[in-house]
Amino acid sequence: MSHYDVLIVGAGVAGCALAHALSTLQRPKPLRICLLERSLAEPDRIVGELLQPGGVIALQKLGMEDCLDGIDAIPMRGYCVVLGGQPVQIPYPDADEGRSFHHGRFIQTLRKKAKQAVGVDVIEATVTELVECQVTGRVLGVRAIRKQEAGEGAETAAAEKETFLADLTVVADGCFSNFRTKVLGEVGVKPALKSYFVGVILDDAHLPIAQHGTVVLVKGHGPVLLYQIGQHDTRMLVDLKDPLPADIKETILTDIMPQLPTSLQEPVRIALEKDRLRRMPNSFLPPAEQGGRHTKEGVFLLGDSWNMRHPLTGGGMTVAFNDVVTLRDLLRDVDDFGDWKAVSGVLHRWHWSRKRFASTINVLSLALYDLFGADDENLEVLRTGCFKYFELGGNCIREPASLLSGTKQSTLLLAYHFFAVALYAIWVMFTHPRQVGTTDAGKPVYARPRMDEYPFLAVKCVQVLWTACMVFMPLIWTEIRWW
Ligand SMILES: Cc1cc2nc3c(=O)[nH]c(=O)nc-3n(C[C@H](O)[C@H](O)[C@H](O)COP(=O)(O)OP(=O)(O)OC[C@H]3O[C@@H](n4cnc5c(N)ncnc54)[C@H](O)[C@@H]3O)c2cc1C
Repeated sequence: MSHYDVLIVGAGVAGCALAHALSTLQRPKPLRICLLERSLAEPDRIVGELLQPGGVIALQKLGMEDCLDGIDAIPMRGYCVVLGGQPVQIPYPDADEGRSFHHGRFIQTLRKKAKQAVGVDVIEATVTELVECQVTGRVLGVRAIRKQEAGEGAETAAAEKETFLADLTVVADGCFSNFRTKVLGEVGVKPALKSYFVGVILDDAHLPIAQHGTVVLVKGHGPVLLYQIGQHDTRMLVDLKDPLPADIKETILTDIMPQLPTSLQEPVRIALEKDRLRRMPNSFLPPAEQGGRHTKEGVFLLGDSWNMRHPLTGGGMTVAFNDVVTLRDLLRDVDDFGDWKAVSGVLHRWHWSRKRFASTINVLSLALYDLFGADDENLEVLRTGCFKYFELGGNCIREPASLLSGTKQSTLLLAYHFFAVALYAIWVMFTHPRQVGTTDAGKPVYARPRMDEYPFLAVKCVQVLWTACMVFMPLIWTEIRWW
């Protein structure tokens, strides 16, 4: 049986960052930290491939920016949104830069950094259960099964569970967390499935604007996201709603591919022929306050196990790294991690102080997803309005881009731009030409609304505003509810 100051379950994005951060805390004796990971092999996943500038800055604050070196990472300078073949460029302000890369390579450098940190033991073992005090219910550690070395075949040994004890246990086991319900108890909610991302890698594809993430808004499905993750590799993620179509490949080939920029269609066709389609659920999980009466003592959740947003805006790792920065700074003042009163005070302060960055990124991702994945008429009005709002340029791009990049952290500013988009969408509806039919040759015909259509548009205007409120307000509520 081993005893540590801190046990961390999961050496992914959040777990590695926390292990390293805690090792840098000044103590009379270095903290003993145990990082348990079920597989230390390089992960091969379609998640966490684009780190926003706000995440790069957080990584610098953690002293881990060198994890972005030597992994063939591509600088990211902004986004390009494409609607109906028309692109609009959304550069990150102030020459800020993000990075995109193969997820597995990044995770391996994070793990290497954690391994090198003073006092950190990285152990390859699958955590199977939490160890609780039989009297108080407080979590005292975990039980885990170590990975067997090749050749070690004895089945009895394979099934042997080892106990790891610690003053504090942190669960960072990702989106499919096995311990979420146990830790959160009655304050926990089930993640809500929003859609799926289906991913492939394109060879030597040319994006409309180099070093910019590309978001193509397609009819009938969610958005398609493309970004370069290596010198020759470009990730494509196609958003598909639940239930998934019976033949995903065919749906992409016939419904979606023709709506992509022409230069991308051939690389997509080739990738669909040779690459295996990978898929991941896109879930929403609002954060519940931890450390109170209803959650378990001695343990807390971090990363996707606790809080998830739609990956459309690539915000998950930025939230995770900023969370670790905030936690590290708050835990600095706790001398004894066994003092649950002190730790739960930290968890309370963390929950509310992280709102400035996490709420902005969470709400933005879901609100933008609702607009970009528009599946009703009113949302479509908002989607067109949003695209045209970006076309205005200036602050209509600069501030939303800084919110997206995670460099500006303000839910108020987000609300301002969201409702500015809604009002502009209504203005566009009244004043801009829209398609009213097609010529015999199949060309679209556009016309401005006539005066006699105004009463109908006035009704629609109320519906659009109502829809905007129904998208935004419930999301804000998930962030500010305090019980
Ligand atoms: C389709 C998709 C695309 C995404 N794209 C982006 C993006 O481009 N940019 C971005 O910032 N975010 C993105 N995200 C979100 C991002 O991937 C997550 O926010 C981030 O990985 C969360 O980190 P984590 O440490 O909580 O979980 P993970 O990084 O998943 O790490 C969890 C770790 O725990 C380990 N583990 C699990 N169970 C056990 C156990 N029982 N015992 C021991 N170890 C265990 C796992 O092996 C894993 O290593 C995306 C998400 C999805 C779904």
